[in-house]
Amino acid sequence: MRDGLKPELIERVLGAKPKYTLPELEEKFPPRDLPAGAFVTRFAPSPTGFMHIGGLYQVLINSKLAQQTNGVFMLRIEDTDTKREVKDAVQIIIDSLKSFGLSYNNDEKYGPYYQSQRKDIYHSVAADLLARGLAYPCFLTAADMERIRAEQSAAGFPTGIYGEFARDRDLTESEIIAHLDNGEVPSIRLYSNGNPERRIFCKDAVRGSIGFPENNEDLVLIKSNDGLPTYHFAHLCDDHFMRTTHVVRGAEWLSSLPLHYQLFQMMGWTPPMYIHTSTLDTIDKDTGKQRKLSKRHDPESNVANLLADGWPVMAVLEYLFNIIASGYEEAKLKGAVKSIWDYEFRPKKIPMSGALFDMKKLEWWAKENIAQMSVDELVANVVAWAQKYADSMRKEQISDLQYLRNVLSIERDNPKRIRKDFITWRQTLSEVEYFWDKFFVPNREYEFNADVLNAFLSTFNIADDKDTWWNKIVEIANRFGIKNGDVAMNLRVALTGRTNTPDLYSIMQVMGKDRVIERVQGAIK
Ligand code: GLU
Repeated sequence: MRDGLKPELIERVLGAKPKYTLPELEEKFPPRDLPAGAFVTRFAPSPTGFMHIGGLYQVLINSKLAQQTNGVFMLRIEDTDTKREVKDAVQIIIDSLKSFGLSYNNDEKYGPYYQSQRKDIYHSVAADLLARGLAYPCFLTAADMERIRAEQSAAGFPTGIYGEFARDRDLTESEIIAHLDNGEVPSIRLYSNGNPERRIFCKDAVRGSIGFPENNEDLVLIKSNDGLPTYHFAHLCDDHFMRTTHVVRGAEWLSSLPLHYQLFQMMGWTPPMYIHTSTLDTIDKDTGKQRKLSKRHDPESNVANLLADGWPVMAVLEYLFNIIASGYEEAKLKGAVKSIWDYEFRPKKIPMSGALFDMKKLEWWAKENIAQMSVDELVANVVAWAQKYADSMRKEQISDLQYLRNVLSIERDNPKRIRKDFITWRQTLSEVEYFWDKFFVPNREYEFNADVLNAFLSTFNIADDKDTWWNKIVEIANRFGIKNGDVAMNLRVALTGRTNTPDLYSIMQVMGKDRVIERVQGAIK
């Protein structure tokens, strides 16, 4: 084994004396005291100012795995890219989780949860690797690396810093000191002992054991410009010391597995169980081909848009959950489970390749979801949505809550026959907007029978019960020799402007005497 650096040199290379020894870190972040089989999971977004639906999907998997095993789900902010302004971006993530009722448990003991605040930990682990000769300071500049890359490409070699191309891998102590005396700040690179001709076997909970060529690249662990870790090194340190048992992350990290296994092996730590999730896809309108939901082309990929459109949050979660737990839908329909929180799913079932994000299916979940709500819940949701997202015109509909409640109560009293035409809160309000005079659009196409409508007005009494009301309609139909339905249709269109509505009697009861008379008179003219 090669010699590592002496403590004084490590201190100079890292710019400061490492704060902790490894045993100190182990003691500071002890194994968690949790029941056997408990999963410790985390969502680890890089704050970009945008919460992708794929992120929500991962949050759901993580929090569900923790919840169903009585474990812990954490939120870790991967803000090591200091070029980005992250303050609002983090708030967007936190707010999204909150909107979906997904809570995390960031126990202070294992924090901090912003990677930018964990430098001491990374540097302490890097110091250990430097001391053991498993990492080294590298003084290559961007220009050096560019040159190496060009040479490699020209010669047909794989690009990267490895083997003979890793110029600084075996610098002597005095060479290192000379660079430092020269004012150069090194990055810290892994001293890779991997050989791509050998294979390393890594585990993924969905895919099983996967063989890869060993990693021979001397990847950067600590960046020279800001002293912060790369994703790989932060993942090693954080998921070890936060005692993560299961790492759920995008399939784009699959190819980094051999490196991550190598890092864990070097430290003598047990790697977590990995679950690499596939992308959420859509069918491209132009090409007809399946592709990843994109931030730019697909508004539904932005969680903020789903909220602004008023999708019921539980429906979105149920829809996403059914992708990873395909038996859920049936269990729910049979009444075997009440919600995703009492359906146990197995990580093995998570799809390995792109799952289609199907708006039609989301609509179905939304309709079912709203149909199961009590009127109070429905009103509360609609109002909360409107307060946050609706324009002032739309807000009219929530100004008289009793009227809104009456409108939304229509066809909700018989549990077997609950209307299923509400999808989103936005759409719910526009679906019932004809109840408000401001929104009511008289139907100018329909050919009203003025005599029939006059006949209706002459006997109309808002206090009639449903049977009396109907008998009057039948009587009018008989008198004019037309179908009952034709009389009802005249009224329906006069009152609502539409040919298709929920129960007409209920509509009249909710609209009230004056509005009914006014609209019928309007149609007669
Ligand atoms: N910050 C990484 C990402 O956004 C996290 C991956 C992981 O969960 O380990 O892709």
